[in-house]
Amino acid sequence: MELSRRGFLQATGLALGTSLAYELSTQSQAFALEGDAPFKLVNTEEYTNICCYCSGGCGSICSVRDGELVNLEGDADHPINRGGLCSKGATMSQLRNIVTEDTREIVYNPNRMTKPMVRRPGTSQWEEISWDDALFEIARHVKDTRDANFIAEENGVTVNRTEAIASLGGSQQNNEEDYLILKSMRSLGVIALDNQARV
Ligand code: SF4
Repeated sequence: MELSRRGFLQATGLALGTSLAYELSTQSQAFALEGDAPFKLVNTEEYTNICCYCSGGCGSICSVRDGELVNLEGDADHPINRGGLCSKGATMSQLRNIVTEDTREIVYNPNRMTKPMVRRPGTSQWEEISWDDALFEIARHVKDTRDANFIAEENGVTVNRTEAIASLGGSQQNNEEDYLILKSMRSLGVIALDNQARV
């Protein structure tokens, strides 16, 4: 097909005009929608947080309105993830809120633990316990276990260690906390020390 210079200009002009009209019509729709609905994050307070799922330590921003979490997204200012979150981190808000299967309502996650729980030896039931009692019982178990399994000397050499306790750190601990954990564990004679986050 032969296309004259005038025909070419007419055809490209028509195409550009059609494209521009489409752009304007979709933009005006978008503007109209924005005008009707309030922005999701209006009147929210922002809190920064660290992802709890792996040793990466990605940063997130939690948007809270009236004490309720309404949005969670990657923190663009965080040096590790610069706004990105993997699929696990992106669903972190489900630790607090979930969508019900039947009514699709947003409700508190019923499986979220907000208090210490203990399962006594010989039972299959978990029971609530206060923070003070939980800390006391843990300290009691650590001391009793350490004292019952302390090795002061081995082959005539002073070793002062226990092999009955191990310490495993998590990704949310910072350098200073890890330093204190290391010192306290060493003071008990614990030699089995590791951390989830080797970063
Ligand atoms: S967002 Fe993903 S990669 Fe980042 S800390 Fe969480 S689990 Fe790890």
